[in-house]
Amino acid sequence: MPIPRKIHESVSLTRVMEACNRYDTSLDNPGICLACGQDQDGCEPDARGYTCEACDEPQVYGAQELLIMGAYHTDGGRKA
Ligand SMILES: [Zn+2]
Repeated sequence: MPIPRKIHESVSLTRVMEACNRYDTSLDNPGICLACGQDQDGCEPDARGYTCEACDEPQVYGAQELLIMGAYHTDGGRKA
């Protein structure tokens, strides 16, 4: 499955790291929808292409998967 071309502007590195942290320190299984930016629980860390409960797009990815894919915006803007 290809990396989605569009990543919602709210999906930042900080947010993905925070979600990974939540997975490590709680019983949450956080995923994030790349289409609308919605948090979705019940995603395995390596979830890919789950259907979003908010927007119905198959764009929900597990937090660690997002990190591995590099599917996030860096908070400092574009990389040099
Ligand atoms: Zn969505």
